[in-house]
Amino acid sequence: MLRRTFLGSASAAAISMSFLRDRAWAESSVPAELGAARLDGQSTSLKRSDIEDFRAGLRGPLLLPGDAGYDDARVVWNAAFDRHPALIARCAGAADIARALQFGAAHNLLVAVHGGGHSSSGQSVCEGGLMIDLSLMKSVRIDPNRKTARVEPGVLLGALDREALAFGLVTTTGMVSHTGAAGLTLGGGCGRLARRFGLAVDNLAGIDVVSPDGILRAATAKENPDLFWALRGGSGNFGVASSLEYVLHPFEQTMYGGQLHYSFDEAQEVLRFFADFMADAPNELWITTAIGDVQKGQRALTFDVCYSGPVANGERLMKPLRDFRKPLRDEVGPVAYTTLQTHGDIEGRFGLRRYQTSGYLLKLEPALVEAVLAQFADANAIPLRILIMPWGGGAIARVAPTATAYWHRDIRWNVQAATSWQSAVDSDAGKARVREAWKAIEPLTQGFYANSITGRAAENMHGAYGGNYERLARIKKKYDPANLLRMNANVLPT
Ligand SMILES: Cc1cc2nc3c(=O)[nH]c(=O)nc-3n(C[C@H](O)[C@H](O)[C@H](O)COP(=O)(O)OP(=O)(O)OC[C@H]3O[C@@H](n4cnc5c(N)ncnc54)[C@H](O)[C@@H]3O)c2cc1C
Repeated sequence: MLRRTFLGSASAAAISMSFLRDRAWAESSVPAELGAARLDGQSTSLKRSDIEDFRAGLRGPLLLPGDAGYDDARVVWNAAFDRHPALIARCAGAADIARALQFGAAHNLLVAVHGGGHSSSGQSVCEGGLMIDLSLMKSVRIDPNRKTARVEPGVLLGALDREALAFGLVTTTGMVSHTGAAGLTLGGGCGRLARRFGLAVDNLAGIDVVSPDGILRAATAKENPDLFWALRGGSGNFGVASSLEYVLHPFEQTMYGGQLHYSFDEAQEVLRFFADFMADAPNELWITTAIGDVQKGQRALTFDVCYSGPVANGERLMKPLRDFRKPLRDEVGPVAYTTLQTHGDIEGRFGLRRYQTSGYLLKLEPALVEAVLAQFADANAIPLRILIMPWGGGAIARVAPTATAYWHRDIRWNVQAATSWQSAVDSDAGKARVREAWKAIEPLTQGFYANSITGRAAENMHGAYGGNYERLARIKKKYDPANLLRMNANVLPT
């Protein structure tokens, strides 16, 4: 099925009339000429009449610098990216997305797509270009009979979890509840339930997507299957998703989980034991390891545990790890899944400048443990945190690498080095701390997550897509030949 969105200027103007009453925000004056960044890095000048036409054809607000709400709308998770788009189109629906993409393409503008704003490399806000902001599109519709969730692209993970859980259902999401569902899913989407139910992309039944030419297509296994294949792991390269449908699973809401905190002095022995312990762990068990500075001068090793099988089994299963070394604090027990799903929210909060990079591991080998712990030899160094997250096995590995665009089905872990700081003056030192640590860790990694591309050059995106890159490039050429959607783990249209 192919649906062309309405975009005739007469009909657009007629439709927008009915919204004018609610559009006091749209009354700001537009300058005669507005400077904007082009795709090729040059600047261009947009005419007032073009901007006014664009604004009149949108159902949601079009914000310019100085407009009320502009500064809030351009904020992203990583405060290191304090960018000022020339225009922010706050889309109210698929028609707004289509109009914004067409405006961007017609004027050759640099385009950023903003869902939940969590891109650690700042891909969802651009300097001087057009920001397509989806964060007003927040509907989640659960169908308890079909066991599906229909989700708009501004929905955050916490909302999806809560709506589904209210009906005793769940799907795989990520570990911080204020992450955008669409952005996370398009790159793969891994979290506490992934080894049990698969990645977020493995639970997608279909996506509605608007391509840069303004055409809205349904992508499912039957309709536009090439696009459906590419969208499941190929990130935001092929269009802007206006709606995603997820498959849901019946779910017990009480987990056996929480945190185990260890003295940093015991980190080496505990981590080596942990590597063996996890080698045979059931798919219901997910443990994220955090190593490093809780704050300056205070280092720790923390396991964040979620066992989604029967609670009694969880206690039995965790006993060997608990018995190996007594934790300083043991906070593991029966706990609501929604509570676990917000454990990372404060550590992962908005408002800090951040630098982080990550890569996949086939094994948690002793050399990796050594390389990680060596980064903490200097007690006075800038605070650093290293996360080791389960990212493979179970239902993730049951899908072939070529079945979806998400390639890395054989890896087991994702290791991330990160730091954060408040003031711009600390930026160079913060980045240097992570880069130095990464020099020792990177040689042990194999490929990386498309949703985590900090520090990677555009020509290195094969590391994200592996053997699927060439097929993705062909599909990119079909749907986005001008590479309008390039602020992502970019696939070149070749
Ligand atoms: C604190 C934190 C925790 C995280 N935890 C996890 C985790 O547990 N599991 C995991 O898998 N990942 C995790 N991530 C990575 C996360 O998946 C990516 O950052 C993802 O891109 C976030 O999506 P977003 O919509 O919030 O981000 P945004 O910054 O809004 O978007 C990022 C990019 O996604 C694309 N995009 C977003 N929405 C659309 C759309 N509707 N159509 C087309 N393209 C779109 C665009 O290319 C955009 O540049 C985490 C990131 C952070 C910062």
